[in-house]
Amino acid sequence: MRIDVVSIFPAYLEPLGLSLIGKATSQGVLDVHVHDLRDFTHDRHRTVDDTPYGGGAGMVMRPEPWGEAFDALTDGDDVPHLIVPAPGGVLFTQAIAAELARKPRLAFACGRYEGIDERVIDEARIRMPVSVISLGDYVLNGGEVAALAMIEAIARLIPGVIGNAASLDEESHTGGLLEYPIYTKPREWRGHEVPSVLLSGDHGAIESWRLGQRYERTEASRPDLLETGGDSGTSPSTENPRFVAATADDAGEIWTMARACWITEARDHNSFNIPALTENLTDVQEWLTQWRAWVVRSRGRLIGSVRARRTEKLWDIGRLMVAPDMQGRGLGKALLAYAEQQAPDDIVGFSMFTGGHSVANLRMYQRAGYETRGRSTYAGIPTVELYKSRD
Ligand code: SAM
Repeated sequence: MRIDVVSIFPAYLEPLGLSLIGKATSQGVLDVHVHDLRDFTHDRHRTVDDTPYGGGAGMVMRPEPWGEAFDALTDGDDVPHLIVPAPGGVLFTQAIAAELARKPRLAFACGRYEGIDERVIDEARIRMPVSVISLGDYVLNGGEVAALAMIEAIARLIPGVIGNAASLDEESHTGGLLEYPIYTKPREWRGHEVPSVLLSGDHGAIESWRLGQRYERTEASRPDLLETGGDSGTSPSTENPRFVAATADDAGEIWTMARACWITEARDHNSFNIPALTENLTDVQEWLTQWRAWVVRSRGRLIGSVRARRTEKLWDIGRLMVAPDMQGRGLGKALLAYAEQQAPDDIVGFSMFTGGHSVANLRMYQRAGYETRGRSTYAGIPTVELYKSRD
Protein backbone atom coordinates (compact mmCIF):
# COMPACT_ATOMS: atom_id res chain seq x y z
CA MET A 1 0.00 0.00 0.00
CA ARG A 2 1.18 3.49 -0.79
CA ILE A 3 0.36 6.20 1.76
CA ASP A 4 0.84 9.95 1.16
CA VAL A 5 0.44 12.44 3.98
CA VAL A 6 0.22 16.19 3.39
CA SER A 7 0.85 18.43 6.41
CA ILE A 8 2.45 21.73 7.37
CA PHE A 9 4.35 19.77 10.06
CA PRO A 10 6.00 16.86 8.22
CA ALA A 11 8.16 16.16 11.30
CA TYR A 12 4.97 15.24 13.18
CA LEU A 13 4.78 12.11 11.01
CA GLU A 14 8.28 10.87 11.84
CA PRO A 15 6.98 8.11 14.16
CA LEU A 16 5.80 6.36 10.99
CA GLY A 17 9.45 5.29 10.61
CA LEU A 18 9.35 3.41 13.94
CA SER A 19 8.18 0.03 15.15
CA LEU A 20 6.03 -2.27 12.99
CA ILE A 21 4.98 0.43 10.53
CA GLY A 22 8.62 1.48 10.07
CA LYS A 23 9.63 -2.16 9.60
CA ALA A 24 6.85 -2.73 7.06
CA THR A 25 8.07 0.34 5.18
CA SER A 26 11.69 -0.84 5.11
CA GLN A 27 10.48 -4.26 3.90
CA GLY A 28 8.47 -2.67 1.09
CA VAL A 29 5.01 -3.72 2.39
CA LEU A 30 4.22 -0.02 2.88
CA ASP A 31 5.41 2.90 0.80
CA VAL A 32 5.00 6.05 2.91
CA HIS A 33 5.53 9.60 1.56
CA VAL A 34 5.14 12.70 3.72
CA HIS A 35 4.76 16.06 1.93
CA ASP A 36 5.11 19.60 3.28
CA LEU A 37 2.05 21.60 2.20
CA ARG A 38 4.24 24.70 2.12
CA ASP A 39 6.17 23.20 -0.80
CA PHE A 40 3.02 23.93 -2.86
CA THR A 41 3.03 27.67 -2.04
CA HIS A 42 4.70 30.36 -4.16
CA ASP A 43 5.00 33.43 -1.94
CA ARG A 44 7.99 34.43 0.11
CA HIS A 45 6.29 33.56 3.42
CA ARG A 46 4.99 30.20 2.14
CA THR A 47 1.50 31.19 3.30
CA VAL A 48 -1.11 28.48 3.80
CA ASP A 49 -3.83 30.31 5.78
CA ASP A 50 -5.98 33.41 5.75
CA THR A 51 -8.85 35.04 7.63
CA PRO A 52 -12.32 33.48 7.33
CA TYR A 53 -14.95 34.96 5.03
CA GLY A 54 -17.95 36.04 7.09
CA GLY A 55 -15.73 36.77 10.10
CA GLY A 56 -15.07 34.62 13.13
CA ALA A 57 -12.13 33.50 15.16
CA GLY A 58 -9.01 31.83 13.84
CA MET A 59 -7.54 31.24 10.42
CA VAL A 60 -8.62 29.00 7.55
CA MET A 61 -6.33 27.00 5.26
CA ARG A 62 -6.28 28.53 1.78
CA PRO A 63 -7.32 26.30 -1.14
CA GLU A 64 -4.46 26.95 -3.60
CA PRO A 65 -1.66 24.94 -1.92
CA TRP A 66 -4.08 22.04 -1.38
CA GLY A 67 -5.13 22.18 -5.04
CA GLU A 68 -1.51 21.86 -6.13
CA ALA A 69 -0.84 19.10 -3.62
CA PHE A 70 -3.80 17.16 -5.05
CA ASP A 71 -2.48 17.75 -8.58
CA ALA A 72 0.75 16.06 -7.52
CA LEU A 73 -1.09 13.19 -5.78
CA THR A 74 -3.32 12.44 -8.77
CA ASP A 75 -0.60 12.77 -11.36
CA GLY A 76 -0.37 9.07 -12.25
CA ASP A 77 -2.96 6.40 -13.07
CA ASP A 78 -3.63 5.14 -9.56
CA VAL A 79 -5.40 7.92 -7.68
CA PRO A 80 -5.45 7.57 -3.89
CA HIS A 81 -8.47 7.35 -1.62
CA LEU A 82 -8.23 10.66 0.22
CA ILE A 83 -8.88 10.81 3.95
CA VAL A 84 -9.52 14.20 5.46
CA PRO A 85 -9.29 14.01 9.26
CA ALA A 86 -11.89 16.34 10.78
CA PRO A 87 -13.88 16.38 14.04
CA GLY A 88 -17.04 16.75 11.94
CA GLY A 89 -16.41 13.57 9.91
CA VAL A 90 -17.79 10.07 10.33
CA LEU A 91 -16.41 8.30 13.37
CA PHE A 92 -13.34 6.15 12.68
CA THR A 93 -14.00 2.50 13.54
CA GLN A 94 -12.34 -0.88 13.14
CA ALA A 95 -14.75 -1.60 10.27
CA ILE A 96 -13.58 1.55 8.44
CA ALA A 97 -9.95 0.61 9.14
CA ALA A 98 -10.58 -2.84 7.63
CA GLU A 99 -12.24 -1.32 4.56
CA LEU A 100 -9.39 1.16 4.00
CA ALA A 101 -6.78 -1.58 4.52
CA ARG A 102 -8.00 -3.13 1.26
CA LYS A 103 -7.20 0.01 -0.81
CA PRO A 104 -3.95 0.07 -2.78
CA ARG A 105 -3.34 3.75 -2.15
CA LEU A 106 -4.37 6.23 0.56
CA ALA A 107 -3.64 9.92 1.09
CA PHE A 108 -4.22 12.04 4.20
CA ALA A 109 -4.85 15.80 4.14
CA CYS A 110 -3.98 17.13 7.61
CA GLY A 111 -5.72 20.36 8.47
CA ARG A 112 -4.57 22.97 11.00
CA TYR A 113 -5.99 26.24 12.38
CA GLU A 114 -9.80 26.27 12.06
CA GLY A 115 -9.61 23.76 9.23
CA ILE A 116 -9.45 23.71 5.43
CA ASP A 117 -11.47 25.86 2.99
CA GLU A 118 -14.53 23.71 2.14
CA ARG A 119 -13.93 24.03 -1.62
CA VAL A 120 -10.80 21.92 -1.20
CA ILE A 121 -12.99 18.94 -0.26
CA ASP A 122 -15.39 19.68 -3.15
CA GLU A 123 -12.46 19.81 -5.58
CA ALA A 124 -10.92 16.62 -4.18
CA ARG A 125 -14.21 14.74 -4.62
CA ILE A 126 -14.11 15.44 -8.37
CA ARG A 127 -10.72 13.80 -8.64
CA MET A 128 -10.66 10.92 -6.16
CA PRO A 129 -12.73 9.07 -3.55
CA VAL A 130 -12.83 11.13 -0.34
CA SER A 131 -13.71 10.20 3.25
CA VAL A 132 -13.94 12.86 5.94
CA ILE A 133 -13.20 10.98 9.14
CA SER A 134 -13.14 11.93 12.82
CA LEU A 135 -10.93 10.20 15.33
CA GLY A 136 -13.41 10.85 18.13
CA ASP A 137 -15.74 13.37 19.67
CA TYR A 138 -13.08 15.87 20.69
CA VAL A 139 -11.01 18.53 18.94
CA LEU A 140 -7.29 18.19 18.22
CA ASN A 141 -4.98 20.99 17.09
CA GLY A 142 -4.33 19.35 13.75
CA GLY A 143 -4.95 16.31 11.58
CA GLU A 144 -1.47 14.78 12.10
CA VAL A 145 -2.26 12.86 15.29
CA ALA A 146 -5.48 11.60 13.70
CA ALA A 147 -3.60 10.54 10.56
CA LEU A 148 -0.99 8.71 12.66
CA ALA A 149 -3.68 6.86 14.59
CA MET A 150 -5.64 5.93 11.47
CA ILE A 151 -2.52 4.82 9.57
CA GLU A 152 -1.50 2.58 12.45
CA ALA A 153 -4.96 1.02 12.75
CA ILE A 154 -5.20 0.50 8.98
CA ALA A 155 -1.64 -0.66 8.33
CA ARG A 156 -1.66 -3.37 11.01
CA LEU A 157 -4.51 -5.05 9.13
CA ILE A 158 -2.41 -5.33 5.96
CA PRO A 159 -0.97 -8.83 5.56
CA GLY A 160 2.72 -8.82 6.46
CA VAL A 161 2.66 -5.83 8.83
CA ILE A 162 1.96 -7.80 11.99
CA GLY A 163 3.98 -10.97 12.57
CA ASN A 164 1.17 -13.05 14.04
CA ALA A 165 -2.01 -12.35 12.03
CA ALA A 166 -4.02 -14.62 14.37
CA SER A 167 -3.56 -12.00 17.09
CA LEU A 168 -5.98 -9.77 15.16
CA ASP A 169 -8.85 -12.27 15.37
CA GLU A 170 -10.04 -11.76 18.93
CA GLU A 171 -9.01 -8.17 19.45
CA SER A 172 -11.30 -5.47 20.73
CA HIS A 173 -13.82 -4.36 18.11
CA THR A 174 -13.42 -7.51 16.05
CA GLY A 175 -16.94 -8.89 15.72
CA GLY A 176 -18.20 -5.87 17.66
CA LEU A 177 -16.90 -7.07 21.03
CA LEU A 178 -14.08 -5.89 23.27
CA GLU A 179 -11.18 -8.17 24.07
CA TYR A 180 -11.11 -10.53 27.07
CA PRO A 181 -8.61 -9.76 29.88
CA ILE A 182 -5.10 -11.06 29.19
CA TYR A 183 -2.36 -12.27 31.54
CA THR A 184 1.25 -13.41 31.40
CA LYS A 185 3.86 -14.69 33.86
CA PRO A 186 4.28 -14.66 36.80
CA ARG A 187 1.31 -16.72 37.92
CA GLU A 188 0.94 -14.67 41.07
CA TRP A 189 1.99 -11.03 41.30
CA ARG A 190 1.62 -8.83 44.41
CA GLY A 191 -1.16 -11.09 45.59
CA HIS A 192 -3.04 -10.98 42.27
CA GLU A 193 -3.64 -14.44 40.78
CA VAL A 194 -4.09 -15.33 37.13
CA PRO A 195 -7.66 -16.75 36.74
CA SER A 196 -7.29 -20.49 37.29
CA VAL A 197 -9.27 -21.44 34.17
CA LEU A 198 -6.35 -20.11 32.08
CA LEU A 199 -4.00 -22.58 33.77
CA SER A 200 -6.36 -25.53 33.36
CA GLY A 201 -5.25 -26.55 29.86
CA ASP A 202 -8.95 -27.10 29.07
CA HIS A 203 -9.30 -25.25 25.77
CA GLY A 204 -13.10 -25.53 25.69
CA ALA A 205 -13.38 -23.99 29.15
CA ILE A 206 -10.86 -21.26 28.29
CA GLU A 207 -12.69 -20.37 25.09
CA SER A 208 -16.02 -20.22 26.86
CA TRP A 209 -14.57 -18.11 29.73
CA ARG A 210 -13.03 -15.69 27.26
CA LEU A 211 -16.23 -15.33 25.28
CA GLY A 212 -18.16 -14.62 28.48
CA GLN A 213 -15.56 -12.02 29.49
CA ARG A 214 -15.85 -10.33 26.09
CA TYR A 215 -19.60 -9.93 26.56
CA GLU A 216 -19.23 -8.77 30.17
CA ARG A 217 -16.60 -6.18 29.30
CA THR A 218 -18.52 -4.91 26.32
CA GLU A 219 -21.68 -4.66 28.36
CA ALA A 220 -19.84 -2.80 31.15
CA SER A 221 -17.77 -0.37 29.04
CA ARG A 222 -19.51 -0.11 25.68
CA PRO A 223 -23.16 -1.29 25.85
CA ASP A 224 -23.76 0.80 22.71
CA LEU A 225 -21.76 -1.76 20.70
CA LEU A 226 -24.12 -4.53 21.75
CA GLU A 227 -27.22 -2.48 21.03
CA THR A 228 -26.20 -1.44 17.56
CA GLY A 229 -24.70 -4.75 16.52
CA GLY A 230 -21.23 -3.29 16.98
CA ASP A 231 -19.46 -1.76 14.05
CA SER A 232 -19.72 -4.91 11.99
CA GLY A 233 -22.95 -3.71 10.42
CA THR A 234 -24.60 -7.11 10.70
CA SER A 235 -27.56 -6.23 12.90
CA PRO A 236 -30.06 -7.82 13.36
CA SER A 237 -28.16 -10.92 14.14
CA THR A 238 -26.91 -13.26 16.79
CA GLU A 239 -23.42 -11.82 16.44
CA ASN A 240 -23.45 -9.15 19.12
CA PRO A 241 -26.28 -10.12 21.42
CA ARG A 242 -27.10 -8.14 24.50
CA PHE A 243 -28.09 -10.28 27.44
CA VAL A 244 -30.52 -8.66 29.84
CA ALA A 245 -32.13 -9.93 33.01
CA ALA A 246 -35.51 -11.48 32.27
CA THR A 247 -38.57 -9.94 33.89
CA ALA A 248 -42.15 -11.12 34.42
CA ASP A 249 -43.01 -9.36 31.14
CA ASP A 250 -40.85 -11.89 29.26
CA ALA A 251 -42.77 -14.90 30.59
CA GLY A 252 -45.19 -15.18 27.66
CA GLU A 253 -42.46 -15.11 25.04
CA ILE A 254 -40.21 -17.49 27.00
CA TRP A 255 -43.11 -19.94 27.33
CA THR A 256 -43.93 -19.71 23.62
CA MET A 257 -40.32 -20.03 22.50
CA ALA A 258 -39.75 -23.03 24.78
CA ARG A 259 -42.54 -24.85 22.92
CA ALA A 260 -40.87 -24.16 19.59
CA CYS A 261 -37.46 -25.19 20.92
CA TRP A 262 -38.31 -28.34 22.86
CA ILE A 263 -40.46 -29.84 20.12
CA THR A 264 -37.24 -31.33 18.66
CA GLU A 265 -36.48 -32.96 21.99
CA ALA A 266 -40.02 -34.34 22.11
CA ARG A 267 -39.52 -35.88 18.68
CA ASP A 268 -36.06 -37.24 19.55
CA HIS A 269 -37.43 -38.87 22.71
CA ASN A 270 -40.83 -39.80 21.31
CA SER A 271 -42.52 -38.11 24.27
CA PHE A 272 -44.03 -34.77 25.21
CA ASN A 273 -43.45 -35.44 28.87
CA ILE A 274 -40.69 -32.82 29.06
CA PRO A 275 -40.89 -30.08 31.74
CA ALA A 276 -40.29 -27.26 29.24
CA LEU A 277 -43.32 -28.50 27.29
CA THR A 278 -45.67 -29.51 30.09
CA GLU A 279 -45.33 -26.31 32.13
CA ASN A 280 -47.91 -23.57 31.67
CA LEU A 281 -47.53 -19.80 31.61
CA THR A 282 -48.09 -19.52 35.35
CA ASP A 283 -45.27 -22.01 35.93
CA VAL A 284 -42.91 -19.82 33.88
CA GLN A 285 -44.02 -16.71 35.74
CA GLU A 286 -43.34 -18.53 38.97
CA TRP A 287 -39.89 -19.89 38.13
CA LEU A 288 -38.91 -16.43 36.92
CA THR A 289 -39.21 -15.33 40.56
CA GLN A 290 -37.03 -18.23 41.76
CA TRP A 291 -34.30 -18.38 39.14
CA ARG A 292 -32.09 -15.74 37.62
CA ALA A 293 -32.82 -15.67 33.91
CA TRP A 294 -31.56 -13.69 30.95
CA VAL A 295 -33.00 -13.02 27.55
CA VAL A 296 -31.58 -11.75 24.31
CA ARG A 297 -33.54 -9.89 21.67
CA SER A 298 -33.07 -8.95 18.05
CA ARG A 299 -35.17 -6.03 16.81
CA GLY A 300 -37.39 -6.43 19.82
CA ARG A 301 -38.03 -10.13 19.27
CA LEU A 302 -36.97 -12.66 21.90
CA ILE A 303 -34.41 -14.96 20.26
CA GLY A 304 -32.72 -16.63 23.21
CA SER A 305 -32.97 -17.28 26.92
CA VAL A 306 -31.29 -19.13 29.79
CA ARG A 307 -31.85 -19.48 33.52
CA ALA A 308 -29.58 -20.37 36.47
CA ARG A 309 -29.71 -20.70 40.22
CA ARG A 310 -27.61 -21.91 43.08
CA THR A 311 -27.87 -25.37 44.60
CA GLU A 312 -25.38 -25.18 47.43
CA LYS A 313 -21.98 -24.73 45.75
CA LEU A 314 -23.24 -25.55 42.27
CA TRP A 315 -24.74 -23.22 39.65
CA ASP A 316 -27.64 -25.04 37.96
CA ILE A 317 -28.12 -23.84 34.42
CA GLY A 318 -31.21 -24.69 32.44
CA ARG A 319 -33.86 -23.77 29.88
CA LEU A 320 -31.08 -22.75 27.50
CA MET A 321 -32.89 -21.99 24.27
CA VAL A 322 -32.39 -20.21 20.98
CA ALA A 323 -35.21 -19.48 18.54
CA PRO A 324 -35.19 -22.19 15.84
CA ASP A 325 -34.35 -19.77 13.01
CA MET A 326 -31.42 -18.32 15.00
CA GLN A 327 -29.77 -21.62 15.87
CA GLY A 328 -26.36 -22.69 14.58
CA ARG A 329 -24.79 -19.24 14.93
CA GLY A 330 -23.11 -19.57 18.32
CA LEU A 331 -25.83 -17.84 20.32
CA GLY A 332 -26.48 -20.90 22.54
CA LYS A 333 -22.78 -21.08 23.35
CA ALA A 334 -22.69 -17.37 24.15
CA LEU A 335 -25.78 -17.62 26.38
CA LEU A 336 -24.24 -20.54 28.24
CA ALA A 337 -20.96 -18.66 28.73
CA TYR A 338 -22.89 -15.64 29.95
CA ALA A 339 -24.94 -17.68 32.44
CA GLU A 340 -21.69 -19.20 33.77
CA GLN A 341 -20.16 -15.74 34.19
CA GLN A 342 -23.09 -14.69 36.36
CA ALA A 343 -22.38 -17.35 39.00
CA PRO A 344 -21.50 -15.97 42.45
CA ASP A 345 -17.82 -16.18 43.41
CA ASP A 346 -18.15 -19.15 45.77
CA ILE A 347 -19.71 -21.41 43.12
CA VAL A 348 -17.36 -24.31 42.35
CA GLY A 349 -19.04 -25.83 39.29
CA PHE A 350 -21.88 -25.75 36.82
CA SER A 351 -24.51 -28.44 36.37
CA MET A 352 -27.32 -29.07 33.93
CA PHE A 353 -29.63 -31.75 32.56
CA THR A 354 -30.46 -32.63 29.02
CA GLY A 355 -32.26 -35.46 27.25
CA GLY A 356 -30.23 -38.61 26.61
CA HIS A 357 -31.10 -38.49 22.91
CA SER A 358 -30.43 -34.78 22.45
CA VAL A 359 -27.30 -35.39 20.42
CA ALA A 360 -26.73 -31.83 19.20
CA ASN A 361 -27.16 -30.37 22.70
CA LEU A 362 -24.81 -32.94 24.22
CA ARG A 363 -22.21 -32.13 21.60
CA MET A 364 -22.46 -28.41 22.30
CA TYR A 365 -22.16 -28.92 26.08
CA GLN A 366 -19.15 -31.17 25.61
CA ARG A 367 -17.48 -28.55 23.45
CA ALA A 368 -18.17 -26.01 26.20
CA GLY A 369 -16.26 -28.23 28.67
CA TYR A 370 -19.13 -30.22 30.27
CA GLU A 371 -18.73 -33.87 31.22
CA THR A 372 -21.35 -36.51 31.85
CA ARG A 373 -21.73 -37.00 35.57
CA GLY A 374 -24.70 -39.32 35.67
CA ARG A 375 -27.60 -40.81 33.76
CA SER A 376 -31.15 -41.34 34.92
CA THR A 377 -34.71 -41.14 33.65
CA TYR A 378 -37.40 -38.53 34.06
CA ALA A 379 -40.98 -39.56 33.29
CA GLY A 380 -39.65 -42.45 31.25
CA ILE A 381 -37.21 -40.26 29.27
CA PRO A 382 -33.46 -40.88 29.53
CA THR A 383 -31.61 -37.86 30.91
CA VAL A 384 -27.97 -36.97 31.22
CA GLU A 385 -26.54 -34.94 34.08
CA LEU A 386 -23.70 -32.73 32.96
CA TYR A 387 -21.06 -31.03 35.06
CA LYS A 388 -18.25 -28.60 34.53
CA SER A 389 -15.84 -27.48 37.20
CA ARG A 390 -15.48 -23.74 37.47
CA ASP A 391 -11.69 -23.91 37.25
N1 SAM B 1 -12.88 24.31 13.59
C1 SAM B 1 -12.91 22.88 13.51
C2 SAM B 1 -14.22 22.38 14.05
O1 SAM B 1 -14.74 22.98 15.00
O2 SAM B 1 -14.71 21.34 13.58
C3 SAM B 1 -11.77 22.28 14.30
C4 SAM B 1 -10.46 22.46 13.64
S1 SAM B 1 -9.14 21.66 14.47
C5 SAM B 1 -8.63 22.86 15.63
C6 SAM B 1 -7.86 21.65 13.28
C7 SAM B 1 -7.68 20.35 12.55
O3 SAM B 1 -7.43 19.31 13.47
C8 SAM B 1 -8.83 19.86 11.72
O4 SAM B 1 -8.87 20.50 10.46
C9 SAM B 1 -8.52 18.41 11.59
O5 SAM B 1 -7.57 18.16 10.58
C10 SAM B 1 -7.88 18.09 12.92
N2 SAM B 1 -8.78 17.49 13.92
C11 SAM B 1 -9.21 18.05 15.06
N3 SAM B 1 -9.99 17.21 15.75
C12 SAM B 1 -10.05 16.07 15.05
C13 SAM B 1 -10.72 14.84 15.24
N4 SAM B 1 -11.47 14.62 16.31
N5 SAM B 1 -10.57 13.90 14.32
C14 SAM B 1 -9.81 14.10 13.21
N6 SAM B 1 -9.16 15.26 12.97
C15 SAM B 1 -9.28 16.23 13.89
